[in-house]
Amino acid sequence: MAMFDSLSKRLDGIFNNLGGQGKLTEEDVNTALREVRLALIEADVNLKVARQFVDRVKEKAIGSDVMGSLTPAQQVLSIVQEELIEVLGGTGENNRLDLGGSPPNIIMLVGLQGSGKTTSAAKLANYLRKQGQRPLLVAADMYRPAAVNQIKSLGKQLNIPVYSEPMGADPVDICVNALDYAREQAISVMILDTAGRLNIDERMMNEVTNIRARLKPREVLLVADAMTGQEAVRVADDFNKAVSLTGMVLTKMDGDARGGAALSIRSVTGVPVKFMGMGEKTDALEPFYPDRLASRILG
Ligand code: GDP
Repeated sequence: MAMFDSLSKRLDGIFNNLGGQGKLTEEDVNTALREVRLALIEADVNLKVARQFVDRVKEKAIGSDVMGSLTPAQQVLSIVQEELIEVLGGTGENNRLDLGGSPPNIIMLVGLQGSGKTTSAAKLANYLRKQGQRPLLVAADMYRPAAVNQIKSLGKQLNIPVYSEPMGADPVDICVNALDYAREQAISVMILDTAGRLNIDERMMNEVTNIRARLKPREVLLVADAMTGQEAVRVADDFNKAVSLTGMVLTKMDGDARGGAALSIRSVTGVPVKFMGMGEKTDALEPFYPDRLASRILG
């Protein structure tokens, strides 16, 4: 993956310098961990997250007596790998989408304009249909006129139904009406594309809160652009504090970002990343697997 290339090369270099065999001194381990911390910061990882990461690796390394082992470098590396998995979100069930309610389950997408929200709505519908669901896309973004046409055309292209109303309709009404329609049509999962703005503002948050209160979505997913690095982390933190998210979709992970958002966002917000966007096409969406990503990072 492009975004993690430099980080994985850097980490590789660090561990090669530690040597494959032979005993390490505490100084060796400290030097390596200083380099790990620098590599994380260069990848635009949140400073606090980078510091905690290195502290935990050091603690575990000391606890497991790597210095006395015959393969200390590999041991440090496997501790780093464990911590990478942890910082990316662990291996728990809460990384997966929860569609355990009685159908139609409702997934609400929120996010800033340009984050890839509308595209992700279509990708998610496409993904869920492949899992045997009957999805419905709901065009509830009344602030970007093009969004309604965009989602209609994506729906047409994928042959997935789209519920929409004329511009100017109230977004809460649209979602409520869409739910009636979904029940009539035996839809199993509804994906709400709600309004995005350039900045988080009170009106936007009120709208999200109102839709949430009326529709009681099973999932409220923030769509955030990984290319924006720590800005994406701040946006996620603000959204989570205002509307309490159940998960995130990190888009543009195929881009030339350095990995900082993916590596920081879970630790800072406590909200799991559930999917990642890997391109512009409607099939470029993958479930987010911390262990696989950790392996890719370490090369
Ligand atoms: P919205 O304003 O949040 O609804 O954003 P859009 O869905 O219109 O997406 C904005 C731009 O980002 C479009 O050009 C998309 O094709 C592009 N985009 C969305 N997701 C991804 C992704 O995962 N990778 C890449 N490379 N581009 C993406």
